[in-house]
Amino acid sequence: MNKAYIALGSNLQEREQFLTEAIDLIKGHEQINLKNTSSIYETEPVGYTDQNCFLNAVIEVDTSLEPLVLLDYCQQIEEELGRKRVIKWGPRTIDLDILLYNQENMKDERLTIPHPHMHERAFVMVPLAELNPGIYIPASGERAFEVVRAFPASELKGIKLWKK
Ligand code: ATP
Ligand code: MG
Ligand code: MG
Repeated sequence: MNKAYIALGSNLQEREQFLTEAIDLIKGHEQINLKNTSSIYETEPVGYTDQNCFLNAVIEVDTSLEPLVLLDYCQQIEEELGRKRVIKWGPRTIDLDILLYNQENMKDERLTIPHPHMHERAFVMVPLAELNPGIYIPASGERAFEVVRAFPASELKGIKLWKK
């Protein structure tokens, strides 16, 4: 079994429903076992800021799927839930990013693990630290709670607990 953490984000239409449906589809795969779900956070958009606030969460799964097959499945769910890629970092029904896969490092044309931007993103690190504060984040050389503690207060202010 492998342990993976997946980040979910939605900022279009029924945001919570997209998160719930994505989690249900992940749970529905016979080779994926959902172990834990973070609270849902409402977060201000970063990058392309002229868009709705996001709902973000992180889940922990056990899976016998190899990383690229897990990515295929995540992308299939994005398709199914109507994700359209129009603007880079723009509005989306659902975004599923693989953050960590065991403590492995991989760099493929389609998949970089750990996710290259995770340690810079409070909207990812806050829910991840809720699930597993002690988990080591390779790119930062720190544990999740230490990465969160180092974010400026102004950035953490943009991450609001929305639903436990
Ligand atoms: P970001 O990756 O900066 O969060 P994004 O999630 O909006 O941006 P997407 O359009 O969802 O970007 O994905 C672009 C490509 O990123 C995908 O086609 C996928 O192959 C690739 N990718 C690379 N590493 C990962 C990863 N760890 N998880 C998910 N997708 C990844
Ligand atoms: Mg993303
Ligand atoms: Mg993505």
